[in-house]
This record gives sequence, structure tokens and C-alpha cells, in this order.
Amino acid sequence: MELESLYQEVILDHYKHPANKKLSPDYTAQVHHVNTSCGDEITLNLSLKDGLISQVSWEGVGCSISQASTSIMTDLMIGKNTESALSVLGEFTSLMQSKGLAKGDELVLEDAVALAGVSKFPARIKCALLGWMAFKDAISQSVTQQEK
Ligand code: ZN
Repeated sequence: MELESLYQEVILDHYKHPANKKLSPDYTAQVHHVNTSCGDEITLNLSLKDGLISQVSWEGVGCSISQASTSIMTDLMIGKNTESALSVLGEFTSLMQSKGLAKGDELVLEDAVALAGVSKFPARIKCALLGWMAFKDAISQSVTQQEK
């Protein structure tokens, strides 16, 4: 119970004070993702430099879960290399698929463990994953560009 209200506070805090929510003019890939089932929308700019995620910035509208989750994700990803970023993304995706059974590893997911409870509500999972899927898309676009 106490843990749940703490988690709600983390989500609310990210919703009210979102991290990196201002599109940076420099980016290696820009993506726009929507979650039609809820009306959430985000645009995400990613900068990849020498295999490192140097910047993730975004703009968006939608429910508190989608906006807070995107904010948490950007905080987590900036400064990581693509390999560890994708492994964190994998951890979060399995947390969301856990149907409320997993708690998430706080050492890996940090504030994102606050979203663990969302996995009990199938309709909200897409909200929580929106920013992460946009990020994944932006990574693969950046990597493809660099291979050209
Ligand atoms: Zn939503």
C-alpha cells in the first residue's frame, strides 16, 4: 500500500515535471508515435554519437502514464551505449508483459519500476510503452543511417 502510493508519487512527479521535454534541434533520428487507444502522442528526437545516446528529447500530449513513462525513459537512456539501452528496454518490456507479477529490478530500471503496476491493466500497457517504442524506433533508424 505504502509502496503503491510512493510509486504514484513518482509517476505524478514525472508527469508534472517531465525530464527532457523540449525538442532538441539536433538529432540523428526523429520519430512520431501515437497510441490511438488512449490518444497519447509523442515526438522524439534522438542523438547518437559514437555509439552513445547523447541526447533524447521529446514533446507530447496524453495521459499521465504515457507522459511520465517517456520522461522516466529519457532520464534512463541518456549517456548509455545502444547495447545497454536496448537491454534496459528489454527489461522494461518484460516488466510490462508480466501481468502484475514482476516488480522490476530497480538497479536497472530505476524510476521505471514505479510503472510495474501498469502491467496489470492491459489497456494501459500501450500508454506506458509508447515512449519506449518510439525510442527503439529512433535507435534503429539512427543505426541504419550510420551503416549507410
Ligand atoms: Zn494513455
